[in-house]
This record gives sequence, C-alpha cells and structure tokens, in this order.
Amino acid sequence: MKVDLLCIGSELLTGLVADTNGFYLSGRLWSSGIQVRELRVIPDDMDAIITALRHSLPHCDAIICTGGLGPTDDDLTREAVARLLDLPLLLDPEWLEQIERLFARYGYPMPLSNRKQAMAIKGSRRLDNPKGTAPGAIVPAGRRWIILLPGPPQEMQPMFEASVLPFLNSAAPVGASWFIRTLKCAGLGESLLAEKIKQAGAFSHPLSLTARGMEVYLQLKAYGAPATAVNELDEAETRLRRTIGDYIYGVDQETLAGAVVSRLKERQLTLALAESCTGGLLSDLITDIHGSSHILKGSLVAYSPGAKIDPLGVEQNLLEAEGAVSEAVAVAMALKSRVLFTADAGVGITGIAGPESDGSGRPVGLVFVAVAFGEGVNCKQLNLTGTRRAVKERAAQTALAMLWRMMPDDDKA
Ligand code: AMP
Ligand code: MG
Repeated sequence: MKVDLLCIGSELLTGLVADTNGFYLSGRLWSSGIQVRELRVIPDDMDAIITALRHSLPHCDAIICTGGLGPTDDDLTREAVARLLDLPLLLDPEWLEQIERLFARYGYPMPLSNRKQAMAIKGSRRLDNPKGTAPGAIVPAGRRWIILLPGPPQEMQPMFEASVLPFLNSAAPVGASWFIRTLKCAGLGESLLAEKIKQAGAFSHPLSLTARGMEVYLQLKAYGAPATAVNELDEAETRLRRTIGDYIYGVDQETLAGAVVSRLKERQLTLALAESCTGGLLSDLITDIHGSSHILKGSLVAYSPGAKIDPLGVEQNLLEAEGAVSEAVAVAMALKSRVLFTADAGVGITGIAGPESDGSGRPVGLVFVAVAFGEGVNCKQLNLTGTRRAVKERAAQTALAMLWRMMPDDDKA
C-alpha cells in the first residue's frame, strides 16, 4: 500500500511552525509496512490543496491530509476535498452536539464559526476526536481514500493510532511491500558502528546509518509479504544484536531517555542530576517520560560557580584549582548530586556552550559529563561544535547514553 502525506497549513510555510506531523506519520506508516510515496507541505489555499490532491490521487492508495480543519475561514481542507470530489457538505447533528457539549464544559457558548466543523463530506466516515472540536474523516474517492486529520499533533496522533492505522490495515491488507525497522544505537560513533556491522557479514537487504547528534539510527529494510518481510527483519536484527547489541537501546519509536527510565525502573534505582551548561535539558528529557517520577529524585541547575558550592556541595578549593569546566568538577557534581538527593546514580554536566568562551582559556564546546553509579564514576570529555542548542543536546544525549550503558541490563545482571 502506498500513501501520500499532505501537511496543510500556511503557518508551516512561513517559519512559524515546523511540520512534525509528516515526520511522525511517515515513521509510523513505514514501520507498519505502508510506503510513503510523497510528503508535501501545502498552504491553506483552495487551489493549492486541490492541485496537490489531484496530483497525488492517481499514484497512491490513500492520501492522508493533516491540518486545515479548524473553525476559521482560512481552514479550507474539508471544502477543498468536497469540491475536488464534487460532493456536498452535510451537517452532522451528532458532532454538532458533541462540539456544543465541549463548549458547555468549558463554560461558554459555542461560537457560530465552530458549526463549520460539524459539516461532513457526503459519504465520508467520521473519525472522532476525543481531544478537540475538529473530527477527522475517511472520504472514499473511487478505489482510493482521502483521509483528513486535524493539525494539532496532540489530536492528530491518537486519532491516527486509534482509527487510521487500523483502517488502512483492514481496507487493503498489506501485500508485498517495503517494511522498515529502525534500531537505535548510543555509545558508539557512526563509523565505528559501521565497522562492527561489517564484521556481522553481508546483509541481503538495504541497511542505512544516520547519525542524530550522539545517537546513530540503523534502518533495516525488507521487501515482501508482511510475514516474510517481518521474519527477515527479525533475522537481520538478531544477527546485528549479536555484534552491536550492547549499543542498541531501542527500536522504532523508542527514545534514549525512555530506555534509561525503564532500565532504572526495572532495577529499582534512583537518579539525581546536577546540570550546568545543559540548563535543565537532561531533566526535561527524562521528565518527558511517563513513569520518570519513580526514578528521578531531584535535579539542580547549578549554573553559577556559587550554586555549585552551595547548595550542591562542590568544594570551593576544587572549583578554584580546577576551574568550573573540568573533569574534577563534573565528577564532584555527579557525586554531590547523589548525596543532595539521596539517589543511587548521579550525573554532573559542566561545559562551555558558546558562542564565546568563559574567559578561562578553555575552548567553546568543551563539556565534561560524569556519571556516578555504585563504586564507579565515569567521566567523558566532549569537544563539540555547533550552536548552543546543539552543544546542550549532545551533552544531554551523552549523559543518557552513559547512564544507559552503566546500568547492567537484565540479561547480564
Ligand atoms: P488546524 O486547525 O487543523 O489547521 O491545525 C492548526 C494547528 O495545528 C496549529 O496550531 C499548528 O501549529 C498545528 N499544526 C498544523 N499542522 C501541523 C504540522 N504539520 N506539524 C505540526 N503542527 C501542526
Ligand atoms: Mg490551519
């Protein structure tokens, strides 16, 4: 099955909002054996939407559109599809009631403009939106379908998972197709990983490596009927795990922060953080994960030298002798955070995010990341380039990778 994705919204073309719907949907579709043929970003413009739909329709089994389902005049997706297929828009009284109920719950009357969201294309199937006023729709178009989803990712994603993916799978059982699996690796650079993969011998299927900051994503592709292709992917994964298994923290949608939280949780271990140049980014990544409250005892952004001394507890003599950006201070931060929050593992991060140096003569991009766990403390020196954000992200990713690798996994514990 082939799908085209149209992300509709003028704000996506003016630098106001980055398209994340296309990113999310393409990943989910490929890993479900559904090929994404094209992904395009289109403005809220009647002609542009109709032209894009017309262009896609003959070449794919379904088009998924996101955005343009809002109540205001600039949201035109529903109208454009109706016009293309020459179908009328009919009031869906059930959904009108649902919108009215939603507004009643907020405590004010429904604005007239929202009535537009209860207009359904004749012959379409409504996709309920539990988180908003814009329903989605599956619109038959000959042998094909045009599927409409709202733009806000927090509404679009659950609707896609609950309604669209099951629909696509049942509407046209996936025949021979490309299947993709992404093995996510941390703790080894792209070229070293590539070397190790070569040692695993030749693979009959395409294999690609993509570096994302300090992580490397390894994509496996297999073509065939679902059972055969998935079986081939399983075999390739097993072979790769024999060689580089120590570096694979997850598959497909899994995240490094998620892997760290689960590993700590499984082992009933707790974590404390002391962050300087990352300014809380590591805490942010960890607290994004559901269940992080079980493992994270506390986090301190010890940004100034003074804060590293009190409340963190790094000794002033050490700070003066070694400088704030040093291995010794990163190690002390990791150890002291563990004491401050009474945790099993502690992380200390100190560095110079740039763009200018801190006057100590140390270069921009120099970062020390220390992890204390049990009797041991590991410290890594990074010499990073890029924007402040890139330096912060790589430092936080490094801490996650170190934490993950320092925690023995279940099989080896
Ligand atoms: P809608 O009312 O359906 O056009 O959705 C508009 C809202 O969804 C805006 O707040 C956008 O920021 C967000 N949005 C729309 N399309 C996307 C997209 N492709 N990626 C991320 N956010 C989006
Ligand atoms: Mg819009």
